Amino acid sequence: MTQATIERLESVVGVETWRRLAEKARRQGLRAFRLNDDARTWAVTSHSQPGTAYEVTILDGDLLCSCPGSAYYPYCKHRALVLAELGLIGELPNRPERRARAGHRARVRATQSHQAPEPSPASG
Ligand SMILES: [Zn+2]
Repeated sequence: MTQATIERLESVVGVETWRRLAEKARRQGLRAFRLNDDARTWAVTSHSQPGTAYEVTILDGDLLCSCPGSAYYPYCKHRALVLAELGLIGELPNRPERRARAGHRARVRATQSHQAPEPSPASG
């Protein structure tokens, strides 16, 4: 099933595109949950709609998603993340730039917390 699935998917967009979408999904903190421990039905959290998850279904070698974008595009990051979870598009590389960005953010936050509120002038 899985091999047929990936072959069909590669006819939609190349595996590189799927991988890029999956990386983006990971960066945005999207999470994929297997429903009922069935590898064919998944819920993937939404980035734009907090508290929302989209249903990703593998059906006869097709990969379907219930997100709004799927009405227009044959691929989306939710489906890509499921493919990544299934190991169908290989291991996603750990990007060093992600670490750098996180470090930068931490530094900014540290600087901000360093700025203690000015002591109120002694009155009187
Ligand atoms: Zn989707």
